[in-house]
Amino acid sequence: MDTRNYQIVFLGPQGSGKGTQAEKLAVILNLPVIATGDMYRREAAKLTILGEKISWYMHQGKLVPDDITNALITKRLGQPDCRRGFILDGYPRTIAQAQALAEVTKLTHVMLIDISDAAALVRIAGRVMCQCGATYHLKFNPPIERGVCDKCGQRLAVRKDDQQELALRQRLKIYHQEIDPIIARYEGAGILHRINGERLIEDVHRDVLALFSQ
Ligand code: AMP
Repeated sequence: MDTRNYQIVFLGPQGSGKGTQAEKLAVILNLPVIATGDMYRREAAKLTILGEKISWYMHQGKLVPDDITNALITKRLGQPDCRRGFILDGYPRTIAQAQALAEVTKLTHVMLIDISDAAALVRIAGRVMCQCGATYHLKFNPPIERGVCDKCGQRLAVRKDDQQELALRQRLKIYHQEIDPIIARYEGAGILHRINGERLIEDVHRDVLALFSQ
């Protein structure tokens, strides 16, 4: 595997498996994964004014405002571990975020992990996660020991915003409203790769990897 400076984005609806694919690719390319959802879950758990504000948006299934998100990402991408490249998961999610990102970096690859809404809803229904950020699916990607994280041994739980049907549908609706201009932008730049996400994790991973092994 070569060690060029890759600046990668994973796009896709909730439940598409983009987080799982981002993590698998990160191990091979030895790059940090920057997942805004994980960053926000950590922030929301803090008893700060910002934490409470973020928690409010998350529980409604709404996006945290762009100014907060862009500032968070710009700061994170400036850290030393991103010098060799990075993988973004869950950002950009609006065209304003894509514009802000273009001001601080030049992306090399955008992966669109495509699945239908029907498949997304089925997948989210079985999703469990750990406080450490690891995610599993009871059917498609189960932990070795039921209810326990393979990576750190803590107990797994269903994400709060996955439990609420209304918030979930709202998240999918927002995804569709926002994603088309983002896709058009990256397609125009010739860096978009569409990948069928309605397959086994390893099959999707093989297609992702093929883009980096030439
Ligand atoms: P996720 O784990 O990616 O589904 O994100 C969970 C929640 O975090 C979202 O529903 C939003 O409230 C918030 N969030 C994550 N990424 C972003 C983003 N790029 N822009 C705004 N809000 C975000």
